[in-house]
Amino acid sequence: MRYLATAFLTASTLIALPLSAQDKPLHGIDISDLDRKANPCDDFYDFANGSWRAKNPIPASMVMWSKRWAAGESTKDVLRGILEDAAAKAPNEPPKSTDRLIGDYYAACMDQKAIDALGVKAIAREIAWIRSMASTEDLQPVIQKLNEEAIFVPFTFGSSQDPHNPQSVVADAGAGGLGLPERDYYFKDDAKSKETREKYLQHIAAMFVLAGTDKETSAANAKVVMRMETAFAAASLNNVALRDPHATDHKMSLDDVQKLTPGFNWGTYFESLGLSPDVPVNVDQPKFLEEFQKQLKETPIGDWKTYLTWHVLLSAASSLSTPFVQESFAFHQKYLQGAAEMKPHWKRCVEATDNDLGEALGKKYVEKAFSPEAKARMQEMVKNILLALHDDIQTLTWMSDDTKKKALEKLATFNPKVGYPNNWKDYSSVEITRDAYWVDVVSARRFAVKDDAKLIGKPVDRGRWGMTTPTSNAYYNPLLNEIVFPAGILLPPMFDVNASDAVNYGGIGPVIGHEISHGFDDEGAQFDATGELKNWWTSDDYKKFQERGKCIIDQFDGYTVDGGLHENGKLVEGESIGDLGGVKLAYLAFEKSMEGKPRPANKDGFTPEQQFFISWGQSRGDEIRPDAQRQFVLTNPHPISKYRVLGPLSNSLEFQKAFSCKAGDAMVRPAENRCTIW
Ligand SMILES: [Zn+2]
Repeated sequence: MRYLATAFLTASTLIALPLSAQDKPLHGIDISDLDRKANPCDDFYDFANGSWRAKNPIPASMVMWSKRWAAGESTKDVLRGILEDAAAKAPNEPPKSTDRLIGDYYAACMDQKAIDALGVKAIAREIAWIRSMASTEDLQPVIQKLNEEAIFVPFTFGSSQDPHNPQSVVADAGAGGLGLPERDYYFKDDAKSKETREKYLQHIAAMFVLAGTDKETSAANAKVVMRMETAFAAASLNNVALRDPHATDHKMSLDDVQKLTPGFNWGTYFESLGLSPDVPVNVDQPKFLEEFQKQLKETPIGDWKTYLTWHVLLSAASSLSTPFVQESFAFHQKYLQGAAEMKPHWKRCVEATDNDLGEALGKKYVEKAFSPEAKARMQEMVKNILLALHDDIQTLTWMSDDTKKKALEKLATFNPKVGYPNNWKDYSSVEITRDAYWVDVVSARRFAVKDDAKLIGKPVDRGRWGMTTPTSNAYYNPLLNEIVFPAGILLPPMFDVNASDAVNYGGIGPVIGHEISHGFDDEGAQFDATGELKNWWTSDDYKKFQERGKCIIDQFDGYTVDGGLHENGKLVEGESIGDLGGVKLAYLAFEKSMEGKPRPANKDGFTPEQQFFISWGQSRGDEIRPDAQRQFVLTNPHPISKYRVLGPLSNSLEFQKAFSCKAGDAMVRPAENRCTIW
């Protein structure tokens, strides 16, 4: 891998257009999306896409909307076509073929009549396990069986690369068991947070009623759930604390895990997953396991039954009959995020297939919707943006030569993945029929849990993907030092094989630069070239780097959001470092792509440089509902989109030059407050 990546950095910087694209005129930015009344130096977010947002209100079933979200939703139309076709063909296809697998799954999901007829009986097996418990001693096998169905309560369990030896995979036990979006939801005492907990109690009670419990008992059950979840939340780290990789770094032997929770037999648990007792375990949050032990000792079995039943209902709700689906929607999407109506049934089934059988569906999607030309052009851009950082690091005045050498070493081992995995998962052990949808869901989940557990104790497999192919997103993994771009994000407005360089470098370019920058954000910078959690900075340079991060924390702390909230600078620091670095690196690569060639034409009076920034403003310009915005700001490490446009660009001298913005303009942060990393 090291050699392959090094070749990246020494390759030619010329942009090779795919042959098919060379004869056609390439399309540029969409002028009609601009709000000409807005001043680009005052509010570039409004200027770049204000008109589009005014003409395209958020659809009733969505909580965020933008050209990129619209592209992501239109991918689901393509997937629907694939799945309907597979469902029609499946009965005549051989068992275990991809069409049988995804076609039968989708057909079972779409069979609302059968799902409704079965009602809560679909989860009768899980409920029976829970009901059969007579004492706390019986908890172990039930928790085990629920975990095998990916109902991870109260702790999470799975594989994780060893941050001290990233070539190997260890077991990982984490904190889980909550039904609200984040641990702070249980403790904040503002009026809205109190109301949210009240609504949550009502929601839990309503779900128990649907499951056949009387009203009074259901209301009492909700209180039991709230009490136990609050105790688990109190023993959990919040999302800011979780950004420090050292906070969740506690590798220990199985014996030591056993000492934390004497009431739970980890040996048996390991055995049930086919794991050797010699495999080390990383306990993310030892305090959480101590709380688990406390609850094992103190909580009566009746309360445990209530708590586990709730988590079965929570986990299965979207796969159950219409009343469950509606109640779940009413709390999670409508109340918490402000969605006006549910997504159509077919779309929920498309999303479920992607979630449960993602690499089978993804394989079909690639055949239909992702060309080798698109992959080649994207790989070329990734290469050029890595090169831009390579060149830039060498010119940094704040970093010493020693740290630069290490940074370049890390950059040379970056592994970019574009489009789809080289090897697809083999789902032949998954039993799917059209008879009962929840049984299919469980079958797929059991496969996923086993597929993950089989990695534990083995050398790391670098070929695996953490997102499915049709996903409209991208990621960086510091332990693998990889940047990953699924085919689903490589669509207009982010990327188009037939678009100009200004559009692509301004669209997907900052996303590529963003993922690369994650290798050097507050979290990623703590991992070295091999993925080991190890300081590679000189102490002086690391201090300077943290000061630069502090500038970004202060900038984002200053951004207010409706409802008396403001961005949490510490929570969004990493993503904002990614955005700031991302735009800069993509811009440098774009500039380089123009060298030695005739200058690209202006479009409607906009220079190529202006087109680059407009493309970023247009691909990043999401509109968001106030409730969703609230949840987003409280839980998500990304700033809201408005500030993902305004934040980095108001720090960017290149942007300010392109639009001739002047000191004193809103898009020009005063020199003493201007944040830079690269
Ligand atoms: Zn990111």
